[in-house]
Amino acid sequence: MTGLVYKSTGSWYTVKTDLGHIYECRIKGKFRIKGIKSTNPIAVGDRVDFELETHNNQESGIIYKIHDRANYIVRKSVNLSKQTHIIAANLDQVFLMITINNPPTLTSFIDRFLVTANAYSIKTILLFNKIDVYDDETLLEVKCLAHLYRKIGYECIGVSAKTGKNVDKVKGLMLDKTSMFSGHSGVGKSTLVNAIEPTLNIKTKEISSQHMQGQHTTTFAEMFDLSFGAKIIDTPGIKGFGVVDMDKEEVGDYFPEIFKLKQDCKFNNCLHIQEPKCAVKKALDNDEIAFSRYRSYLQIIEGEDEHYRTDNWDK
Ligand code: GDP
Ligand code: ZN
Repeated sequence: MTGLVYKSTGSWYTVKTDLGHIYECRIKGKFRIKGIKSTNPIAVGDRVDFELETHNNQESGIIYKIHDRANYIVRKSVNLSKQTHIIAANLDQVFLMITINNPPTLTSFIDRFLVTANAYSIKTILLFNKIDVYDDETLLEVKCLAHLYRKIGYECIGVSAKTGKNVDKVKGLMLDKTSMFSGHSGVGKSTLVNAIEPTLNIKTKEISSQHMQGQHTTTFAEMFDLSFGAKIIDTPGIKGFGVVDMDKEEVGDYFPEIFKLKQDCKFNNCLHIQEPKCAVKKALDNDEIAFSRYRSYLQIIEGEDEHYRTDNWDK
């Protein structure tokens, strides 16, 4: 039998078949996946094969195979063990929720998020929330940011989780897909999910910070089916993705506008800092690349923004 993992508690996995039958499953013996060293071999969103067995009249499943993943996101625990935990697999898209104030979302945070999501091959859609309370000046700021990110290929939508503005648009994008909502605490993730599916009442709220610092800081994600034909992965306590280890030379590949230009640089290992005949610097001088984006790029390759590291977001 084949199904999708909706929930895991470490040793038990809740698996739902395509026909909608739910089975509690365990893993057969030692089960390691090539290439990934993680505390959990199977994550929410994984497609698995399992066989049924009966014990004391109780039916349960034994997972013996994981299907190839389209993508997966990890979290590195902040404690000494620095173990990798796979939060979720096979996400179609993530909605990054942004507010201009209460709380402010900095472009450096947005850009690092986008780089990480790109590195994980996960599509990101930007939602500018709380547009119901913004004054004209703040709305102009939203407009400018949306323009900036649309230009480099990201879909941007102004929404109000409170008034319901454009919530149907978000639902439309979620149809037949598996989505996740990310963003700083207080940007309105729970409110929006509640507007999307009032009966769901998921717990996007963070778990206590004390809990997170414990030795066993495993946070379990859970997948939910929504009534209009969409799936959502809830990751309590996790606001972002774990940091991806990447070489300096690789960072530019995850900035679409830099990636597009890099073959025009004189040197093929150009880092677009001081090198002569750099197409990226030229585009920057001509205002074809946003300065805020270039600044974020520099911060990432120079490692100056340690406090924006995504694995520290949930501290
Ligand atoms: P979360 O931490 O991202 O889940 O944020 P919440 O959903 O808990 O929202 C934080 C606060 O922002 C709450 O007081 C919400 O009522 C408020 N809020 C959320 N969305 C909106 C919105 O679109 N407009 C306004 N004015 N307030 C909002
Ligand atoms: Zn260059």
